[in-house]
Amino acid sequence: MSSVTSALRECHRLRVHLRNLQAEIDRGPRVLQGYQDDLDTARQSHKDHHDSITKLKLKQREDEGSLKQTETRLAKLEDQLTGISVQKEYAAKQSEIVQAQAKKGELEDAILATIMELEERTAAIPAVEQVWAQAQADFKQFQIEAAERLEGMKGDQEVCTADLARTEATLPPDVKPTYDNIVKTKGPDSFAASKARVCQGCRTSMTESQFIALRNGTFRTCASCGRMQYPVE
Ligand SMILES: [Zn+2]
Repeated sequence: MSSVTSALRECHRLRVHLRNLQAEIDRGPRVLQGYQDDLDTARQSHKDHHDSITKLKLKQREDEGSLKQTETRLAKLEDQLTGISVQKEYAAKQSEIVQAQAKKGELEDAILATIMELEERTAAIPAVEQVWAQAQADFKQFQIEAAERLEGMKGDQEVCTADLARTEATLPPDVKPTYDNIVKTKGPDSFAASKARVCQGCRTSMTESQFIALRNGTFRTCASCGRMQYPVE
């Protein structure tokens, strides 16, 4: 392959690679945001677990306070019952006692349920802590790897940019202005391989003599899509 067409082939490879690198670098912040969201979700669920324990403890204390009050009231009502001789008053007092007893039962059930839930949630703390620690470790690991990847890509970018400049500098002066014009608008899509006379950019065929000229290193653009061509086997 002549130097012009091999230079075009190399420019094509480098420009496509540079575009892909840039696209991946640009994707970085969105990928990071995804990992950040996962970390935030894990942080929230860790917090929710501990908050729920605090709330349950508070509820237990409140219910125990209410239970104490109800028991005091119940004792007072039962005490009052003995002094009543009027049937109607006696029945009313008894109804109050039944209500207070029901409330006492409800509170006792609620306290028991709270204690059981507290036990369950307290027992789950080690597992919850482990999940949270793992989420933080995963995020840290991602950050380290992402920073390494970014550094690698930036290094690659620098090398390829220099390679591209060096390769473009080898283009003959009569080709360079056309090259610059096409590249300005088409970027990495300024080039197309030609395989068995067929432009790989637009699938248009060229004549045999055009293909021979191309293989001999003649600079040409595709008559159909305008890409700069180079031959491939
Ligand atoms: Zn074409």
